[in-house]
Amino acid sequence: IFISLEGGEGVGKSTQAHLLAEKLESMGHQTVLTREPGGTPGAEAIRSLLLDPTGEGWGREAEVLLFAAARADHIERLIRPALQAGKWVICDRFIDSTRAYQGGGGGMNDRDILDLHRIGCAGLLPDATLLIEVSPEESAQRLEKRDKGQSDRIGGRAAEYHSRVHAAFNVLASAEPKRFHRIDGMGEPQDIHQQIMVALSSVMRS
Ligand code: C5P
Repeated sequence: IFISLEGGEGVGKSTQAHLLAEKLESMGHQTVLTREPGGTPGAEAIRSLLLDPTGEGWGREAEVLLFAAARADHIERLIRPALQAGKWVICDRFIDSTRAYQGGGGGMNDRDILDLHRIGCAGLLPDATLLIEVSPEESAQRLEKRDKGQSDRIGGRAAEYHSRVHAAFNVLASAEPKRFHRIDGMGEPQDIHQQIMVALSSVMRS
């Protein structure tokens, strides 16, 4: 079973991905916890190219192709083999991040992003996607607290960019209400984790 976690900056995705993976393991499910961009040596190398704060940054098309290349490697070498072995795969970000960031935020055409996904990744989609939601204002505040130094960020993006990302996630979730589960990210980590377990109970039964 393939689960992705999505959301804007600083919403607590990584914390929740860890809690979920631990919980699934404790229930006896073999679980692989991974993230995008990254997850395999090749895709992690692409991640450092994408996030390198000393670089000149990337043009829109180059950026989207790098994300697609990282994802293709990640799926081929890690995600698909794990799914075929009957494991649970928990992925911190997946294709919906590209649609929200490079599409909603950066203005790339959504159909082009999906075409690239079809070509590079056979259109693989998660069985369930957990969208962790906090307001763009809250998210901006948390980010400021977290990384004063811009490490591990694609830097220099305006607040406007992030509010377009937020809006795009909202549109994606509304368009696919079966796959998407909206999770209120404003509470304590354990409460958010409980919401996630409730949301996944239907997936576990299927
Ligand atoms: O998930 P995490 O916050 O670690 O993401 C690292 C960086 O990559 C963030 O700055 C995020 O905005 C960016 N990113 C992006 N487009 C994606 C996925 C992540 O710009 N498709």
